Amino acid sequence: MAATKRDYYEVLGVSRTATKQEIARAYRKLAIKYHPDSNPEDENAVAKFKEAAEAYEVLSNEEKRAQYDRYGHAGVGGQAGGFRDVGDIFEAFGDLFGGTIFEDFFGGRGRGRVRRGADLRCDVTLDLEEAASGVTKQVRLNRHQICEACGGNGAEPGSPPQTCPRCGGRGQIIQTNGILRVQTACPQCRGKGSVVTTPCSQCDGQGAVPREVVLEVSIPPGVDDGMRVRLPGEGQPSPDGGPPGDAYCFIHVRPHKIFRREGNDLVIQVPLSYSQAVLGTEIEIPTLSGKRTLTVPGGTQSGEVFRLRGLGMPDPRSGGRGDLLVQTFVEIPKKVTPEQEELLRKLAELDEQNVTPHRESFLERVLHYFRADSDETERDSEGKRKPKKTKQ
Ligand SMILES: [Zn+2]
Ligand SMILES: [Zn+2]
Repeated sequence: MAATKRDYYEVLGVSRTATKQEIARAYRKLAIKYHPDSNPEDENAVAKFKEAAEAYEVLSNEEKRAQYDRYGHAGVGGQAGGFRDVGDIFEAFGDLFGGTIFEDFFGGRGRGRVRRGADLRCDVTLDLEEAASGVTKQVRLNRHQICEACGGNGAEPGSPPQTCPRCGGRGQIIQTNGILRVQTACPQCRGKGSVVTTPCSQCDGQGAVPREVVLEVSIPPGVDDGMRVRLPGEGQPSPDGGPPGDAYCFIHVRPHKIFRREGNDLVIQVPLSYSQAVLGTEIEIPTLSGKRTLTVPGGTQSGEVFRLRGLGMPDPRSGGRGDLLVQTFVEIPKKVTPEQEELLRKLAELDEQNVTPHRESFLERVLHYFRADSDETERDSEGKRKPKKTKQ
C-alpha cells in the first residue's frame, strides 16, 4: 500500500513551499468537494476525502511535515493514515470543520459543527386495496430518546457538567494562524461549553437510551411496492443538539389474487369460451370499486385487451388514475360432454377441418402420426403442435 501512496503535496495540490494557510485552504476545498454528505455512496469520493485528510494531518503539523520532507511516507508511516472512517476525520479535525467555511456547508449555526441525527428505516406491508385507497398504519421504531435520568446531558445526577476549562464555557476558541484569526469550535467540549466529569449510569453518558416508539404513518393513495414514505424528524436525535434525522417507511404491497399492477394500470385476465369469443357476450369484471359489466363484441381474439378508463390505481403524486386492462383469453375445455363433442364435430365438418377421428386404436394413432405431413399442423414427439415446415 505504501508503494502506491501519492505524494501529500500532490494530493493537496500545493507546492512544497506552501504556507500553513495555503495547506489549510487547499484541504478545506478538497474536503468540501469530496465530503460524504455531498457524495452519497461514492466510494471514490470517500477515498479522496480520507487521502486529503491524511495529507493534511501530516502537512499541517510542522514536526510531521519536516519528517515527511526528509524521509517521505516512511518518515510518518506510524502516525499518518490511521483514519478508519469518516467519523475519525471529524474527531481529528472537527475544529477545522467547525469554524468558518464549514458552517454554511453543514448548516450549523454559530456553535460549530452540528450533526443531524441518523435516519431510521421501517417497513410496512399493504394489500393492494389499502395501497389504492391510502391507509394509516402503525409502525414500530427503535429510536434513541433523551435519557430521563440526566435530561440528555450525559452527566450523573448530582454531579452536573463542569464549565469547559479549555474554552471557559464559550464553546469556541480563537486560533491565530499568522495574520488570520479563526474562530472554531472548542475541540475539548466540541462546542458545548461544558464537559461531563461523572457519566450518567443510566445511559453511559450518551444522553440517550434506545426505546421502541410506535408511530402512525399516513400512507397516501396509490403507493407502489418499493416506494418509501418520509417521516420528517422521526429519525435519531442529533448527538449534539442539531436537527433529528428522518424515518423512511418502505412500502411493500402483497401480490393480489386477481389484479396485477403495471405502473398505475391494473391488469386482469378474463377467460372467454370459444363460443363467447365468436358470438360476443357481456361479462362481469371485478374492479377495486365493485363489479362492472364489460361488453365483449363478437369476433374477439384470444389475448385482446379492453381498457376500462380510470379504474386503475391512483397516482400518488398527481392524483390521477390509471386504467383497468381486461386481457381476454380463450379457454379450451379439457373435457366436453358427448353432446358438445357431437356439435363440435359437426362444426369441424362445416369448417372442413381435419380433426382426430372419434375413436382411434393405438395403431391407428401411430399411423396417423406418420401421415401428419399432410396435416394443417404437425406435432412433435411430445404431442406439442409445431408450425408447418417452411423454407429456410
Ligand atoms: Zn443519562
Ligand atoms: Zn470547550
